[in-house]
Amino acid sequence: MLEITIEKEQEIESAAAAEARWLLPVYAQMAVEPVSGRGVELTTRDGRTFLDFYGGHAVALLGYRHPRLLEALGHQAEELFFQSNVAPLSVRARAAKRLVEFAPAGLVRAFLVNSGAEANENALRLAIRATGRTRIVALEGSFHGRTAAAGAVTWGSEKWAGFPYKPFDVTFVPRGGVEGLDALDRALIVGDVAAVILEPVQGMAGAVDLGVEYLRAVRDLTAKHEVKLIFDEVQCGMGRTGFPFAAQRADVLPDLLTTAKGLAGGFPAGALLVTEEIGKIVKTGDLGTTFGGGPMACALIEATIAAIEDEQLLEKVRSNSARLIAGVLAAAPSLVTEVQGAGYLLGLRTTKPAKLVLAELANEGILAGGSSDPQVVRLLPPLVLETAHVDTLIAALARIAGRVSDPVAERRP
Ligand code: PLP
Repeated sequence: MLEITIEKEQEIESAAAAEARWLLPVYAQMAVEPVSGRGVELTTRDGRTFLDFYGGHAVALLGYRHPRLLEALGHQAEELFFQSNVAPLSVRARAAKRLVEFAPAGLVRAFLVNSGAEANENALRLAIRATGRTRIVALEGSFHGRTAAAGAVTWGSEKWAGFPYKPFDVTFVPRGGVEGLDALDRALIVGDVAAVILEPVQGMAGAVDLGVEYLRAVRDLTAKHEVKLIFDEVQCGMGRTGFPFAAQRADVLPDLLTTAKGLAGGFPAGALLVTEEIGKIVKTGDLGTTFGGGPMACALIEATIAAIEDEQLLEKVRSNSARLIAGVLAAAPSLVTEVQGAGYLLGLRTTKPAKLVLAELANEGILAGGSSDPQVVRLLPPLVLETAHVDTLIAALARIAGRVSDPVAERRP
């Protein structure tokens, strides 16, 4: 009897209320409670369906219930659920081969980890070791994670690192443009810089595309000063820009590249990819992790890349992204003044606060994300998004634009 009562109580209590009782209150949560998903649609506890342009924060790369992921998950779970990196596994070798072949030519080895921050932590460690220098240059607006080293190179690092001291010296320079490149040159000339770390498309900042020309100029400057270049593609990698990595889009070879989020389609996984030169300085026992490179994650990394290639998702991202940008600017100019970013990492600059637009989108049955810029709505949909979904978003934004008043008219006396 008591059991039935408890079960009923749990049934009626929302997940938000239950979480609040047991978890530290560190996340500002959305008002919907997804209980299942299929393709790019999420169903919530109260029976509504949402088109998902948020993608679990760029993680649900292949949407929900992708048959390839389910198959890989089921098969690997039955074969071998876990083994440590001390045991060689063919699924790990296959995943690493697939990832290295997907990555820019010249990045020849992978170190498999659990998360984006862990990948960045190890990238920074190797860059410092490779050069024997002690300073890292990062960009304003950057986000690289919440561990000590990743937090130290995140813009606003006093908040993100959360420790009294940083593990190395850090200089932040303005992002992009001639001013940014001049500042970078001045920072590198001193001679104590081990690496420059940057996101080719800054995610948290609101999908700020640093641009192909800028990335090439940074590569030239870092090469000139013999400084390592780290691309953090935790958010913008794995096909999200319409290229395997933003490095290929810019035709730039970084010395180290990190990725995570969508890498295994939603299963926790991260990776660090390095050139032969960096690979040579790593020997047995230098790096390590317990769960990284586990067989489940590896099976899903392999399946995710196979799906991107077999379903020609990169082409779809490029064409749908162009349609989305043109369509939104044409249909809702009073609401969206600019679309920034690349591929499926886009920021809609809105005349109304992003929070308000996100609420309106939710009323239209569409989920999207915010960013550190209060006027930018961030779109990070699964790569399996169809043209029809793009059109649904455009139509919804046009309706929202029609409902919100004209900001110019508002200011008239
Ligand atoms: N780097 C970038 C660009 C990110 O967007 C994030 C997370 O949002 C991270 C690093 C940190 O990744 P994780 O949360 O998996 O540690």
